[in-house]
Amino acid sequence: MKNLIDKLEKQHCLQKDEYASLIRNCDPGLSEYLFEKSRNIRHEIYGHDIYIRGLIEFTNYCKNDCLYCGIRRSNKNAQRYRLTKEEILSCCENGYSLGFRTFVLQGGEDPFFTDDRICEIVEEIKKKYPDCAVTLSIGEKSRESYQRYFDSGADRYLLRHETADPVHYSRLHPPELTLEKRMRCLYDLRDIGYQVGCGFMVGSPFQTEENLAEDMIFIQQFRPDMVGIGPFIPQKDTPFGEMESGTAGLTLFMLGLIRLALPCVLLPSTTALGTIDPRGREKGILAGANVVMPNLSPVSVRKKYLLYDNKICTGDEAAECRNCMQTRMRSIGYDVTVCRGDRKNF
Ligand code: SAM
Repeated sequence: MKNLIDKLEKQHCLQKDEYASLIRNCDPGLSEYLFEKSRNIRHEIYGHDIYIRGLIEFTNYCKNDCLYCGIRRSNKNAQRYRLTKEEILSCCENGYSLGFRTFVLQGGEDPFFTDDRICEIVEEIKKKYPDCAVTLSIGEKSRESYQRYFDSGADRYLLRHETADPVHYSRLHPPELTLEKRMRCLYDLRDIGYQVGCGFMVGSPFQTEENLAEDMIFIQQFRPDMVGIGPFIPQKDTPFGEMESGTAGLTLFMLGLIRLALPCVLLPSTTALGTIDPRGREKGILAGANVVMPNLSPVSVRKKYLLYDNKICTGDEAAECRNCMQTRMRSIGYDVTVCRGDRKNF
């Protein structure tokens, strides 16, 4: 197996069956071998810098019904909320003073936030903080809508593809959501000029090693600027509430593979990873990730953006999250930097 990791390190690509056998053979020994290489390549490109993004979860209303997600429209137990434009701007103001130079606006697909409203918010953020990047993560929209957000100043867009296998996709989503549509969105975003992020959950229900290998092939070919991955974690009020979580071990292994396949990619060590392992985010960085996304949302709404159960950091103010992250990163020899944190080129 080590020879496949060597090959990936040198060529930055593998065949699907090669990825599948690596994933099937993921164990602590092979992981350590991989992480040494993925860390090294990350150090060559990004040194020991950690890029931070201020995450603003501005609405948990969603018109979609993804089977895994705690804010799906059928979840009658979700307490719904929306932030006002003023509240969003106040999160940015707080974030800016804490050294954030990227704001990620994430939310469910909420029809209240029309294109006009999104554009107005993006324009105001960019006017007040021209040195900052704005990332949107608000789901599937028409090409025209994506173009309008881009023209208003949005720089980046995160839209996880969730799984690159159409049959697996159909087992995670209701029939009106298709992989074909997701992919169309990702290609539109790329075409418009966004820095684009895709990604998937590790250990999502019904996922096989072949599915994960297919995700790697898609990433290798699409060459996104960012890849967001984290373990699947059940949320009790969803149809998958009784399913098993993904594991930290396999999530870390996938982070290592992604770093070797795309050396320059912006790769977050996610909150979900920190939820299933108390040192998950540190381990993610040591597996090759280079981004963390502390929460800037007001504490009053934190517990309501409950995609999955037991989510961490729901009670801390933004400043505490920022400081906690800095301490965690320093403890493993890395430094949180004050910059937009754009993708570098090889
Ligand atoms: N609505 C936007 C979208 O669809 O891209 C952004 C919000 S959506 C809740 C953000 C991501 O949360 C999804 O892409 C999904 O991968 C992740 N997510 C949802 N439910 C999850 C769960 N139970 N466990 C882990 N991740 C989950």
